[in-house]
Amino acid sequence: MTEPKTPPGFEDMLAPKGANKQRDLKTFAIVPHHPGGFMNPDQLAKIAEVAKKYAKVVNVTSGQQVMLIGLEREDVAKAWEELGREPEGLLGPRCRGVRFCPGIAYCKRATSDAIGLGTMLDKKFRGMEVPNKVKMSVAGCYLSCTAPAIRDIGVIGLAADSYRIVVGGSGGHAPRIADLLIEGVNRHQVLEICDKMLNYFKEQAKPGERMSEFVPRVSLPQIRQDVLGPIEGLPRWPTKEEEENKVLQGPQPPMAVQTGGQTSCPMPPTN
Ligand code: SF4
Repeated sequence: MTEPKTPPGFEDMLAPKGANKQRDLKTFAIVPHHPGGFMNPDQLAKIAEVAKKYAKVVNVTSGQQVMLIGLEREDVAKAWEELGREPEGLLGPRCRGVRFCPGIAYCKRATSDAIGLGTMLDKKFRGMEVPNKVKMSVAGCYLSCTAPAIRDIGVIGLAADSYRIVVGGSGGHAPRIADLLIEGVNRHQVLEICDKMLNYFKEQAKPGERMSEFVPRVSLPQIRQDVLGPIEGLPRWPTKEEEENKVLQGPQPPMAVQTGGQTSCPMPPTN
């Protein structure tokens, strides 16, 4: 049996491994990943050295990464090699790199660790296949410099090892503020909840559905029941039926959740 032949010039239409074709349809961009955009001066100097040699321009992306733009096709593999990395790049329906801020390591306003938690989330979930791309971010305090309220999953530091998780936000063509999933959880619980949430999304979402469409379609009470319900040590949330009954019974006082022996209302601080 003869091998199917690709049309002449077909190879030239594809981007080399680890590169994105640019608007001019001739040159390419590469993005060496550094979690949260954090790197030491030597790593930055190496990027500058390679950029000087092969790129026309450098851009800091909205995903906190340094993008080298304008590489010729034949230079892409050389650039990756000189960076000392395997070609890499994320396109399509996958979890993107996690955005996170300096948190308690460097920021004077921080209440929580964002670098440690953000790095763990990035390592665990970046590249995971999902029905549509998932953007996540971690903020070291409620000031939310990494915009967790408009991410598919956002994590906001409340205290030393206490975080709030919000889901279903979007800053895209149909902007949406994320819904509060839970608050007062520690970093290990954040990892477990994100893992369960992403797998639940993977199993239950329609093809191509974004988290910002999935969350309102499935409903928050149902998601809490299915995602948080099986996790030990979390507060019990009202079921979907209890939530619906509450609506029928009229306005209710703000719902409180138990957080390590303290009770707190799931609202951001007002000061
Ligand atoms: S979110 Fe808070 S901790 Fe993070 S950079 Fe902004 S002010 Fe600092």
